[in-house]
Amino acid sequence: MSGLWDEVEAERHVGELALRVYSSHLLGRDPSLVLHGGGNTSLKLREMDVLGDEHEILYVKGSGWDLATIEAAGFAPVRMDHLLRLASVPALSDAQMVSELATHVTRVGAPAPSVEAILHALLPHRYVDHTHADALLALTNTADGAARVAEVYGRDVVVIPYVMPGFDLARLCAREFPRQAHAGTLGMVLLNHGIFSFGATARESYERMISLVQRAEDYLARVGARRRSSSAITPAATTRGEIARLRCELSAAAGHPLLLSIHSDERFVAFAQRPDIAMLSQQGPATPDHVIRTKRLPLLGRDVAAYVTDYRRYFERQSARADRPLKMLDPAPRVVLDPAFGLGCAGRSVRDTAIVRDIYAHTLEVIEAATELGGFQALPESDLFDVEYWELEQAKLGRGPAPRLYAGEVALVTGAASGIGRACVDSLLARGAAVIALDTNPAVTTEFARPDVLGVVCDVTDPLARAAALDAGVFAFGGLDLLVLNAGVFPGGTRIESLADAAWRGAMSVNVDANLALLRDCHPLLRLAARGGRVVVIGSKNVPAPGPGAAAYSASKAALTQLARVAALEWGGDGIRVNILHPNAVFDTGLWSEEVLAARARQYGISVEQYRTNNVLKVEVRSRDVAELAAEMCGPLFDKVTGAQLPVDGGNDRVI
Ligand code: ZN
Repeated sequence: MSGLWDEVEAERHVGELALRVYSSHLLGRDPSLVLHGGGNTSLKLREMDVLGDEHEILYVKGSGWDLATIEAAGFAPVRMDHLLRLASVPALSDAQMVSELATHVTRVGAPAPSVEAILHALLPHRYVDHTHADALLALTNTADGAARVAEVYGRDVVVIPYVMPGFDLARLCAREFPRQAHAGTLGMVLLNHGIFSFGATARESYERMISLVQRAEDYLARVGARRRSSSAITPAATTRGEIARLRCELSAAAGHPLLLSIHSDERFVAFAQRPDIAMLSQQGPATPDHVIRTKRLPLLGRDVAAYVTDYRRYFERQSARADRPLKMLDPAPRVVLDPAFGLGCAGRSVRDTAIVRDIYAHTLEVIEAATELGGFQALPESDLFDVEYWELEQAKLGRGPAPRLYAGEVALVTGAASGIGRACVDSLLARGAAVIALDTNPAVTTEFARPDVLGVVCDVTDPLARAAALDAGVFAFGGLDLLVLNAGVFPGGTRIESLADAAWRGAMSVNVDANLALLRDCHPLLRLAARGGRVVVIGSKNVPAPGPGAAAYSASKAALTQLARVAALEWGGDGIRVNILHPNAVFDTGLWSEEVLAARARQYGISVEQYRTNNVLKVEVRSRDVAELAAEMCGPLFDKVTGAQLPVDGGNDRVI
């Protein structure tokens, strides 16, 4: 734990709120302190309103902001006098509290104040910092957590037993803080939850946080609680088919498609292989904050059905206590621990799976350290349930933007580095899919630079390269739902009498053979797609209306079309739809160099410009037009369509 405060950098932040932003970033930068929106900070300022009246205002982190990236606008200004009076109300539901907070914000357009705002207001210091530091959680998630906190901090911190965040916690702190605090108090520990520090300046509060957490880390090191699991067992080979099956079952349990990312780093495999893993992993999260993202427990092994049964029982058991009807969340686990592959993380988006991975990586640290302290002990399931089914969380259900069309689904696009393939990647991403992008061009690995695209250099005619690409895609995203067969070659204009065997075979090899092999390789994955597999084959206008000088191309695309039609027949029973697009004259693709364009125009005896818009509608057909249609053909509009061939050509009088 090293403090990151840099006086030179700090001086660039003028004003107290700017310094509040700066030190919040420092906290947010350290994942052992806060993860993905966790933790919060505040600042108390005196401000004059437009009438000339002075008020004390609490600037507290707004919900939806992350400490690592928060800006001044991310802090909600709330009237202190009201917050302090709220703390003395005997009882308030959390929904009422949220309403009180929101209606006492002094700036229109400010975010909703953190639910811990009252707690921040109560602490009599200008700057208040709050984290869920791993070391603190390791210390308190043990049978004798309170005693260990006393051993580490003595009377330097106020200690609050676990109470769920919200109004009741604020009430308890309002009572306990003045009782325990004294002139030398440096912070406040919330057992099983996290730690607060505070000070007169941003630097003082931040540095106290660092030194308090450091004391917990020193303690863990001193008692030898920093040992890592290690494993001599090599993980058994897990096949992509097994991963896809697991994802299929998880998606079925969730009621919608989920991505599944597999992380076989040594530490995850070693953890999953611990002999005491059943006991360690089945207690609960390191902090209740995580239960929303990770569910209460990980799935240990692959028996999804048993997990779902247990989850339903847990819900029934706990919801019986509630004074209002509760809506059961989907019972699919988000964390999977398996001795063969390590850690699996499920979620609706790549961002979600990455958050689950980060959270569990830290959970594992906390569990192992607490185990060395004599035994990890999470909160009882009733406390975890109260967070998972918190009225504020329940209120969010069914609200917010609808998930995107292909949220949780995985697409594979061949020839993805340019032209129609690249446009297909963009169209599928725009609809929420994660995309495995294949191309022989190495640019495919750098072109997209976003976590929901896995770019793989792959010559689709090479069986080993295909297998490696599918493995990589399935271990990254969990399976395959949508397949866009786009990669193709166009051997330049040559009449049959001079067509070389090599050119003919080259066209057949890429346009037909490789696509047959891809269909064959992908079928076991597509069969497991939660909403049924969907294949879009990029054919060509040359199928219904071949052109002179394009024998190899036209014949290969005709063979591909016939192959796709048979696939539609054979795979309908597996719920897989196969449709074909026949684009024509799409010139913003890799196939069409200026020379090829000029040559084709000459074949027809027209100018290049006429050739570009040489169709019934006199429109230019672009890659994006084809890609948007390809993406939509995978969606509900085409749910009852398979084996169809659709021209995308502006209307062609030889086709119509
Ligand atoms: Zn907290």
